[in-house]
Amino acid sequence: MSYDVVIIGSGGVVGLFIAYELAHYRVRVLVIDKEVEPGFGVSKGHAGVIHVVQPPFNSLRSKLAVEGNRLYDGIARRLHVRIRRLNALLVAKNPAQLIALPAVWLILNHVYGKRGFRIRILGPRSLRRVEPNVSGLGAIEVEGYGIINSFELISQLYNFCRLNGIDFALNTEVKDAKILGDEVALITSRGGEYRAKYVVNAAGLYSADIARLFGDEYKLEFGKGAMLVFWGGEQVRNIVAPLQLIPNPKTKGGAIIPTVFGTTIWGGPSLSMSDRGDRSVNEDDIDVLNEKFSGLLRNRNFTPIKAYAGVRPIPEGDDFVITYSRSSKHVIHLIGIESPGLTSAPAIARRVVEMLREAGVVLTPKDDVKEVDPMIMTRDIIEGGGSINDDQGEVICPCMGVTRADIREAIKRGATTLDGVVFRTGLGMGICQGMCLGKAIKVISEELGIDPRKLTKLGDDSWLVTR
Ligand SMILES: Cc1cc2nc3c(=O)[nH]c(=O)nc-3n(C[C@H](O)[C@H](O)[C@H](O)COP(=O)(O)OP(=O)(O)OC[C@H]3O[C@@H](n4cnc5c(N)ncnc54)[C@H](O)[C@@H]3O)c2cc1C
Repeated sequence: MSYDVVIIGSGGVVGLFIAYELAHYRVRVLVIDKEVEPGFGVSKGHAGVIHVVQPPFNSLRSKLAVEGNRLYDGIARRLHVRIRRLNALLVAKNPAQLIALPAVWLILNHVYGKRGFRIRILGPRSLRRVEPNVSGLGAIEVEGYGIINSFELISQLYNFCRLNGIDFALNTEVKDAKILGDEVALITSRGGEYRAKYVVNAAGLYSADIARLFGDEYKLEFGKGAMLVFWGGEQVRNIVAPLQLIPNPKTKGGAIIPTVFGTTIWGGPSLSMSDRGDRSVNEDDIDVLNEKFSGLLRNRNFTPIKAYAGVRPIPEGDDFVITYSRSSKHVIHLIGIESPGLTSAPAIARRVVEMLREAGVVLTPKDDVKEVDPMIMTRDIIEGGGSINDDQGEVICPCMGVTRADIREAIKRGATTLDGVVFRTGLGMGICQGMCLGKAIKVISEELGIDPRKLTKLGDDSWLVTR
């Protein structure tokens, strides 16, 4: 099995964007991922924010974030993905911070303004008008942020790639690699061997391990961010964070973030940790979130419904590494694609395609690129005043209005697990957090045509029922 380009780890948003770009050319591309479905890696546990400029401001990370940000509206329109543009507010809570606002504005305006992101100071009255539920003496407002339905994004990228001839080998882990002159051999957990003229290592948390297979050494640290999701009611209209005059690198980032689902996330600062597989959330994580954000809100009477965590691969030098292998230009490594990797992904993909071209891949544009249909849920049809059929009348998840027909559509679009259906439909993401689960397992199994005991949450041995 021989390909022009193999992307390792294209279940992630970065790998999928690279495959999406390559799907526009006449090249044979294979995507390998160890997970059973796309989007089960780092790309599963983020906050869905389209960021703007990033510190350090002259970094590759910041440059690609700005470029990616500008590409997102067009991509979202083309792939039918929900995106909402909004601003970010850095809120002054005490008089010292209020007095510092003009100086902060001056510095940030120089950096952000130069790149086209408008910044202004909000006094107490303007802050109240812009954010009625935020308590503060004033704020710096930065334009140009966005929030996106990243589950929809992953699903639509995956469908676009499949529709346009990209091959996928999911549930397949790359175990070893050998450079054989102008070709690379990849040995996988399935025992088979794939040959590729060019390989892109987009393996997220495991990118340094893949690089080592080619004799390249990179050091990664890992940072966990915990998230708390609140149901219903508008906590904030924009992304809101406390102004930190002395940034603490140990707890950098984090904000109160509205989502496209109508929920709100208190998104966590990055705390360093040693075990990259640890996505647990404990009481201390929740205390950190409470300490950081609860004082920003006037009305705090909202119901938390879920806590989750994501892990970032943090590279040495705190910048993305996008480079050829030292052994061969036929291998490209993407190391340490941490925040804002979602924002930067479209720009990273374009950069990688240019590197492939420079390394010798002949990229002839296709003239028959196919477009993906939007995923239309029953609730969209009802909201649009349309009429529904029997399957669309059988409600499985009442909180989120997910019907049997929606589950069927999710499966048609590639879902093979419970989480695959959840990500595509929102099933179980409502206030009760899955009281419908028993019924959902039965219906998903029926629609997949498998015994319910064979259905997993996210592959491997994550079985849901034993009898
Ligand atoms: C808590 C948190 C919040 C964040 N919030 C934001 C945000 O709001 N906005 C933003 O822009 N960014 C955010 N990010 C960053 C963003 O989520 C990541 O940068 C992005 O998802 C990285 O995508 P990726 O494709 O590089 O990695 P991944 O999604 O991890 O994809 C890598 C893939 O490689 C596969 N893989 C690994 N090893 C192998 C192997 N040996 N063989 C085969 N496959 C393999 C994995 O299964 C995985 O699917 C956040 C990150 C975290 C952790």
